[in-house]
Amino acid sequence: MSKKISKVLVANRGEIALRIIRACKELDIKSVAIFSEVDIEGIWVKKADECYPLLGDPLDAYLNIDKIISLALKAQCDAIHPGYGFLSESAEFAEACDKAGIIFVGPKAEHIALFGDKMASKVAMKKIGVPVLEGTSTPIVDIKEGEKISREIGFPIIIKAAFGGGGRGMRIVKEEKDFKAMFEAATAEAKKFFGKGDAFIEKYVENPRHIEVQVIADKYGNVLHLGERDCSIQRRHQKVIEIAPSPRLNENVRRELYRVSTKAMFKLGYESVGTIEFLVDAQDNIYFIEMNTRVQVEHPVTELITGVDIIQRMIEIAEGDKLQFLQEEINFRGYAIEFRINAEDPKKKFMPASGTITKYLTPGGPGVRIDTSVYTGYKIPPNYDSMVGKLIVWALDWDGAVRKARRALDEFYIEGLPTNIPLHREIVRDEDFIEGKLDTSYLDKKLEKFN
Ligand code: ADP
Repeated sequence: MSKKISKVLVANRGEIALRIIRACKELDIKSVAIFSEVDIEGIWVKKADECYPLLGDPLDAYLNIDKIISLALKAQCDAIHPGYGFLSESAEFAEACDKAGIIFVGPKAEHIALFGDKMASKVAMKKIGVPVLEGTSTPIVDIKEGEKISREIGFPIIIKAAFGGGGRGMRIVKEEKDFKAMFEAATAEAKKFFGKGDAFIEKYVENPRHIEVQVIADKYGNVLHLGERDCSIQRRHQKVIEIAPSPRLNENVRRELYRVSTKAMFKLGYESVGTIEFLVDAQDNIYFIEMNTRVQVEHPVTELITGVDIIQRMIEIAEGDKLQFLQEEINFRGYAIEFRINAEDPKKKFMPASGTITKYLTPGGPGVRIDTSVYTGYKIPPNYDSMVGKLIVWALDWDGAVRKARRALDEFYIEGLPTNIPLHREIVRDEDFIEGKLDTSYLDKKLEKFN
């Protein structure tokens, strides 16, 4: 059988670059790595079939559309996988790939553009019957007007950057008197990180759970879900631990999340993989907050409970393959927990740390998976995200998964720079965690207790 994709350029770095290269190898597809000046020692660079340097600013390197496309053409790649972050949610990049005759391993540019705008995507999802939180559907330009709308919605409200991500450009406003300052802070942060200051208002939900549905869709209208992930364990609105399936989720709520997610994706004609994020409040109401049109950091927990290789299937969908399984053929089995391993100092307000790893001992044994790109002697550059890897555990039941997590985290040693492994060790011994009593305020509250 002749495959359309024979060589993939991996437009990313770190653990996800390695993850994609591994997926390609198993599919007999050649992989091409790119690396910035500070990433010469990156393990993904060594494991790919070919590699090319990107000179200049280390951050811009992975964002340079023209350069990456010309490298892909030079290396005769027929596809580009963007991973997560960097250009993964750039409609412009997807279009540029298309123009150059290169397959973009991801959804259509129109869907990337739609879901890149949180405000526009809420409007679109509401139209097709997905519940959303009350809020504005155009950017706030006038502070007085913003205060009036907030009053009508009722405090607390949250101000959000329309084009934001990673927990940035968001401010909770509890009282009207704080609106002005919070609005200015949110828009300034949005402008700084995303280039666009557009911000909107949304009702703030007190202590919700963050539950997201993984969807997978081919080019022929087959839309399936791969279950949900509970990403309620967050620090400052950024995920730290992810669980699949969600412990303590009402079965009717679960079914409803699957139903609205797959229906919406079918109606939109979405293809590739994607994640639809919801908040679930204490009364079990569900609200769509945003969709990520790419593979997510936390995809391994879904892979472990379903046995579906999300990256491989993503590549096949991009090639034009039909999904080879039906919804009822997906068997959900056991519980998986992912711990994001960040190079950061919990004693110094979680400041990102860089430096050389002097000792690196990983856990192993049944039900333990590690997705990382670090090794003994590796120097973590200061230029990128502080996440250096992920520990993922799987067991047949929740109790078993928690026990495995404890054992695996106790075996995990990284020395030379601080990490959040000690924090994870505390969490897996915490009573609320063990009982699965989680919401988005869980970790911030525990941190006060742990410190
Ligand atoms: P980002 O794209 O920056 O990750 P999201 O919109 O996905 O932002 O929200 C990230 C987190 O912020 C959520 O998981 C939740 O904890 C919190 N959050 C977002 N919107 C609301 C809201 N309306 N009410 C309460 N918490 C919210």
